[in-house]
Amino acid sequence: MKYDFLFKGGRIVDPANDRDFIGDVAIKGDKVAEVAKEIDSYLAEQVINISGKVIIPGIIDTHCHVARPEAKGAGYRMLINAGVTTAFDFEGPIEVIKREITKYGCGLNVAVLEAIYPGNGIKSKDATTDELQKTINKYLDSGAIGIKILGGHYPLTPETTYNILQITHQEKGYMGFHVGTTQTGSNIQGLEEAVKLAEGKPLHIAHINAYCRGYIEDPLLELKRTMDILKKSPNIISESHLAIHNACYGGINGNGVPRSYVLRNALRAKGYQVSKEGLEEALRVKYAGVYALVGSKMEYIYGDEAIDYWKKNEYNVGICFPINRRRSAEVCVTERDKKGNFVVDAISSDAGAIPRNCILSHGLPLVHFCALTLSELVQKISLTPSRMLGLKNKGHLSIGADADITIFDPDDAKVEIVLIKGKVCMVSGIIFNNPGRLIVTERGANKLKKQEIPLEVIDLEDSLFLKGKVNKSK
Ligand SMILES: [Zn+2]
Repeated sequence: MKYDFLFKGGRIVDPANDRDFIGDVAIKGDKVAEVAKEIDSYLAEQVINISGKVIIPGIIDTHCHVARPEAKGAGYRMLINAGVTTAFDFEGPIEVIKREITKYGCGLNVAVLEAIYPGNGIKSKDATTDELQKTINKYLDSGAIGIKILGGHYPLTPETTYNILQITHQEKGYMGFHVGTTQTGSNIQGLEEAVKLAEGKPLHIAHINAYCRGYIEDPLLELKRTMDILKKSPNIISESHLAIHNACYGGINGNGVPRSYVLRNALRAKGYQVSKEGLEEALRVKYAGVYALVGSKMEYIYGDEAIDYWKKNEYNVGICFPINRRRSAEVCVTERDKKGNFVVDAISSDAGAIPRNCILSHGLPLVHFCALTLSELVQKISLTPSRMLGLKNKGHLSIGADADITIFDPDDAKVEIVLIKGKVCMVSGIIFNNPGRLIVTERGANKLKKQEIPLEVIDLEDSLFLKGKVNKSK
């Protein structure tokens, strides 16, 4: 047979090739073999009618968390169920993901940034250059494609933050930043500081929407400041998510105060005491929730159940607050510069094992609302993300592209079929047991050769991250 699979009669949306029509997509092996209005059914081993559905290049989630200590693989399952084919993990640990990915991977392609914060890679908020050199090199050698600073949660001094940016840049690693240092915070001031600290070098600023919560001034003014900074900074790559809930760890320090500064902000915002007792009260009245493994997936739990779980796990569990503003989310997704390019490059989920995998379920209503076309949505959840990482064979349905495909119902956002490298990975919520694939740079690949993890090697020189947006082809 000429083709392995033939998907017939779906709406094909492929902005890289300017395609938006009802037609057929044929797959052979791990590649897209043909895309046309009509392909003969006799040419394919398996013919699948997808009329009424939309078929797009697989979703690339540019900010998520696949591994949580309590998740037991739930992150991978939740991502594939949400139609994601490639996950960019913004925390690691890389060693945990390397252990999990063949067992739990669900066929996903996973790239990892390893987080650096006191207790993880460095001893304190003020690390020596020597310590940073060693830690960053260790992570890049272990298969992480770069480093993430979690300054919003666990602030480092501006100098340490600056040194991490410099060293990671010298080592040609990808650099992700949840903004904030000991001088600022997870807010608009932290964003402005981050752009200054980058000094024009490549930097991926995480979840832009999270800095427009109105903590410093009116959220509309924060949005305006944010968009103005980003429009002037072609070296900054960014994404925003559409979830209402935030996410932080519920750990408590020796003084009885929550460790995460993001959590402290959320308590302060509604007048709760910034203490263990204040968090317990917020959990009791269900302002705060906990996320926990329920069956095969992570779910939010509330009230006494949440308090018991938080205490039983010695406080270090995922905590959430419904504090992301809808208006900020909408502007972050749709704002454009004078040339018509989106100011924020991608729509991410910041989910995975955090139960808010809403790229499609919250992205499609924006299409119905005419804030985005379907093609623009695909641009922000697949095409531009592929370029951010330099994944040349993904993000589009050109002949010879990787057969990473997401098929969904446009009315209810239900994901029907996910194919990764030509393998069926999920059909209507039923997940097939395929190993995942780790996306690494040449440096990681050289170190990992002897381990039996399927690898996809990228060259960050090809990425929008290193090339910068001035050279953007569109
Ligand atoms: Zn995150």
